[in-house]
Amino acid sequence: MSKMVKFYNGNMIECEIFKLVDFYDPILRQPTIAWDHKKHDPKQSEYLAFSLAETLKHLGGIGLSANQVGLNHRVCVLNMGGEIWTLFNPKIVDHGLEPATYQEGCLSYPGLYLKVPRYNHIKVKFQAVYGQDVVQDFDGLTAVCVQHELDHLDGIVYTDKVSSMKLEQAKRKVKKNLKKMKAFVEQQRMMKAMQETDDEFKLQPPPKVQENSENKSSKFVYSTG
Ligand SMILES: [Zn+2]
Repeated sequence: MSKMVKFYNGNMIECEIFKLVDFYDPILRQPTIAWDHKKHDPKQSEYLAFSLAETLKHLGGIGLSANQVGLNHRVCVLNMGGEIWTLFNPKIVDHGLEPATYQEGCLSYPGLYLKVPRYNHIKVKFQAVYGQDVVQDFDGLTAVCVQHELDHLDGIVYTDKVSSMKLEQAKRKVKKNLKKMKAFVEQQRMMKAMQETDDEFKLQPPPKVQENSENKSSKFVYSTG
């Protein structure tokens, strides 16, 4: 997709919207490589961070990892509700014992929701866009999302973390939902087509009666009985 320019803190930043790789792309199965801020120009870190953030906004997810768009860097982005955070080289340094109770989806597997064992509270160390060290606590759904993205960065996808029986059940549900969605779309299409046909009739003038001698007389004959 074409490049775009964003303004951030008064600076002009170039970025682009990346394309998701297919779910069977081998890059999703490879551990990513740490991003060394010393080896990269800050402009390169900016480009990567802002492009991932714009791609996440475009796709409407809550998290996205670089390898999901074909880049082998240990970087992910998170939608923190209103703002998007970029996590360079994230690592869980501590966690609570309470399990999380959320089902999770993945931009690489549309419609597939799975309940994966996760912690409800984690402490994560990462670097921000210009290499600043950050330690941050995450709870609930955001914590689940971070663990999901960290797995991606290690070459692990959430389908690996459930039993084959659970996975098959979830896949069947996706197929069922897809069928329902297709039926709904078809119904909407038919209703629209019927509406359009109706409008066409309304737009046409009423059929004219032929002004010939034969029906001229019958035209004004009304039944009175
Ligand atoms: Zn995912």
